[in-house]
Amino acid sequence: MAELIANLKVVRDKINVASARRPLEYKYFEPRLVAVSKFKPVELIVDAYKAGQRHFGENYVNELAEKGNHSSILEMCTDICWHFIGHLQRNKINKLLTTPNLYIIETVDTEKIASALNAAWSKCRTHENLKLKIMVQVNTSNEQEKSGCERTQVCSLVQYIIDNCTSLEFVGLMTIGMFGYDVTKGPNPDFLCLKECREEVSKELGIDSKKIELSMGMSSDYEHAVELGSTNVRVGTAIFGERPKKDIS
Ligand SMILES: *Cc1c(COP(=O)(O)O)cnc(C)c1O
Repeated sequence: MAELIANLKVVRDKINVASARRPLEYKYFEPRLVAVSKFKPVELIVDAYKAGQRHFGENYVNELAEKGNHSSILEMCTDICWHFIGHLQRNKINKLLTTPNLYIIETVDTEKIASALNAAWSKCRTHENLKLKIMVQVNTSNEQEKSGCERTQVCSLVQYIIDNCTSLEFVGLMTIGMFGYDVTKGPNPDFLCLKECREEVSKELGIDSKKIELSMGMSSDYEHAVELGSTNVRVGTAIFGERPKKDIS
């Protein structure tokens, strides 16, 4: 537990330093830290919560539903905000949407999934007409095996959501990007690409770009991402330690 709290403090401090280094144009917001707790036990989530952490990310619907409904979380983490950051299948939507304290789904990448979420959310009775926050995931690295819509489709998907999915609130854009990019080579092209997508959405749809969040940056590059204007970094390993090898969607 002491180690977890020390890690959390290091990550927060580094975010603050990176955040202070940003150009003035980005200083209208403070980046949000999402602690990615996949494969990690509820006890560690409670410890991090007690140390002030509120936003947590999970990749798998079953795991999120289990943790979100766990009695310790319900009793001790009443203001927890869950981010769903994994690949979403339609047959899991109801389970996801009925998880207590679901804050946002960061991985909407098709019209189909957006429509399905919209329909399911409008039928949920667990919220008082609040819209469901979503981000559009973009496959900025154009890797076949990665989720996310193609960058050329971002504007039309956002337009579709705004026009047809009135129970959803479009909040921003998310990318995972290529693994192992060497930052000494300059700004990460995936992060630059996500920023360009934001400019396109802002221009084409007439949305103030300050109202479009950027979810980018993980353990290996969150400081770099913050310097480039990330509003939401998703950090797992640097907080909770190594995970068993397996994942990533
Ligand atoms: C696992 C995961 C993270 C966290 O990765 P770390 O390298 O452990 O910080 C962030 N975003 C997504 C989408 C993930 O799946």
